[in-house]
Amino acid sequence: MGDPADLTIAEAGRQLRDGGLTAAGLLDAVRRRASMTEAQLHAFLTIDAEGAAAAAERADAALARGEDLGPLHGIPVALKDNMVTRGVETTAGSRILAGWVPPYDATVVERLARGGAVIVGKTNMDEFAMGSSTENSAYGPTRNPWDPGRVPGGSSGGSASSVAVGSALGALGSDTGGSIRQPAALTGIVGMKPTYGLVSRYGLIAFASSLDQIGPFARTVEDAVGIFEVIAGHDPSDATSYRGPVPDARAGLAEGPEGLRVGVLRELSGEGNDPDVLEAFERTVDALAGAGATVTPMSLPSCADALNAYYLIAPAECSANLARFDGVRYGPRIGGDTVEQMMGATRRDGFGPEVTRRILVGTYALSAGYYDAFYGQAQKVRTLVVEDFRRAYADVDVLVCPTSPTTAFRVGERADDPLQMYLSDVATVPVNLSGDPGISVPVGVDRDGLPIGFQVIAPALGEAALVRAAAAVERLAAFDARPALATSEGAA
Ligand code: GLN
Repeated sequence: MGDPADLTIAEAGRQLRDGGLTAAGLLDAVRRRASMTEAQLHAFLTIDAEGAAAAAERADAALARGEDLGPLHGIPVALKDNMVTRGVETTAGSRILAGWVPPYDATVVERLARGGAVIVGKTNMDEFAMGSSTENSAYGPTRNPWDPGRVPGGSSGGSASSVAVGSALGALGSDTGGSIRQPAALTGIVGMKPTYGLVSRYGLIAFASSLDQIGPFARTVEDAVGIFEVIAGHDPSDATSYRGPVPDARAGLAEGPEGLRVGVLRELSGEGNDPDVLEAFERTVDALAGAGATVTPMSLPSCADALNAYYLIAPAECSANLARFDGVRYGPRIGGDTVEQMMGATRRDGFGPEVTRRILVGTYALSAGYYDAFYGQAQKVRTLVVEDFRRAYADVDVLVCPTSPTTAFRVGERADDPLQMYLSDVATVPVNLSGDPGISVPVGVDRDGLPIGFQVIAPALGEAALVRAAAAVERLAAFDARPALATSEGAA
C-alpha cells in the first residue's frame, strides 16, 4: 500500500494504536521522503536525527505500555526555526544567530514533547519571519514542492513545504501578518492562525509582539485541530497568554454548514485577485450556499487600509524587539575598537537587507516628531479594523475571502520589489491587527496546476465556528491533489 509519509495525522494515529505502524517506522518514512526531496526543496535548516529517533522510541514504548498521549502521539512534526529548542541550533533564518544553541525549550516545544510528538527538525524561514516567500532566509530559499521554480510562500515556507511533501505530517509556524496562512495556500495544505493569546509565545523569537501567534500546518482541518489542541492553553511564562478555557475547536468538525451565516469580505474578494483564484473562491462560496449556509456580501472598508497600517506597526515593533541582537548575548560577533563599533559591525553583518529595511522604517516611524503621523495613525487604522470586524460579526458567524491574491510566484520574481512582496499579505494581515483567528484551506488549482487557498476568519475565541466552516469548505472542495515531488519521488 501507500507510503506512511502520505498519511494524515488522524490515520497514522489509528495505525499506531492498532499496531499496524510504529513511531519509529513512521519516522523512517518521513526521513526517507526528506532524503529524496531536500536537495530540491531545502525545507529544513536542521534535521535532528538523534532527538527524533529517541522521541520515536519513547513514543513506541509508551504505546506498548498502553499510554495514550493524544492526537500527536508518535507523529513526526516539524518546527519553524524561530521557536527555541534546548540543545538544537535555532537561527530564525538569520546570520546573526548562526550557531546559537538555546539553553531552554519554547512552551510549544515542551507541549509537543509531552504530547508524544516526534520533532524531526527546524524549518527554513524568512529571516526573523519577515517576508512572504522564504527568499529572505540567510541560508538560501525553500522551494515549492508543486514546482521547485516557485516559492512556497513565507515566512514559514519550510514548515509548509515539509508538510506538503511529506517530510513531516504536521508542523508549527508563526503568523504575524499571514506567515502560516499564505504559505499553506501556496503549497496546498491547511494553515491556521489561532486567536491572539491562545498559544504561548514563550520561546518564540519575537518579531512584532502585538501580532505574533504560533499555529499549525497540516494536510487536513482535523489534523490542524489536533495540533491546536496540544499547543493551546494558558502559560504563566507568557504575560499575553489568555487565561480562559481553550475553545472547543473539535466541536466544529462534526457540525455541517446548514444555517451557518457566511459573510463574503467584499474588499478582499474582488478584482485584486487572479481570475483563477477568484473563480475557485466563488465556486466554493456557491457550494457553501448549496449546502445550506446563508451567504451575504459584507463590506469592511478599513480592510483596504490594513496593509498600510501593518507595514508601520510590524516594523515599529520589530525595531524594538531586534535591539537585543547586539553581538553581546547571542551568536557571532564582529570585532571593533569600541563596544559601539562592535555592535554596529555585528548588526551590519548579521542582518539581511529586508530586516535592515524594517528596523530603519520602524525606528523612523517611532521617532519624535513622526510618531503621531505614522505610528499613531496606524494605530487608529487598527482600531477601525477591530470595529469593522465587530460590526460584521453582529450579522455573520464567519467571514471568507481568498487567502492570497495569487498562487505561488517564481523564485526571484518579487525579490527586488518589496511593495509587490508586501501585497501578498493583503488578505491575511487584517486578522493579525484584530487578533481574530483565521485558517486557509486548499480548494483547487489554477491553470498551471498550482494550489489555491480559501480563507475563513471568525471572531476572537470563535475557533469552533472557524473549524465548522473550514471543515465544510474542505468537504465541499474535496481537494485531493498532491504535489509532483510527493507523488513521483515518494511512490515505491
Ligand atoms: N509577510 C508578512 C511580513 O513580511 C508577514 C510575516 C509573518 O507573518 N511573519 O511581515
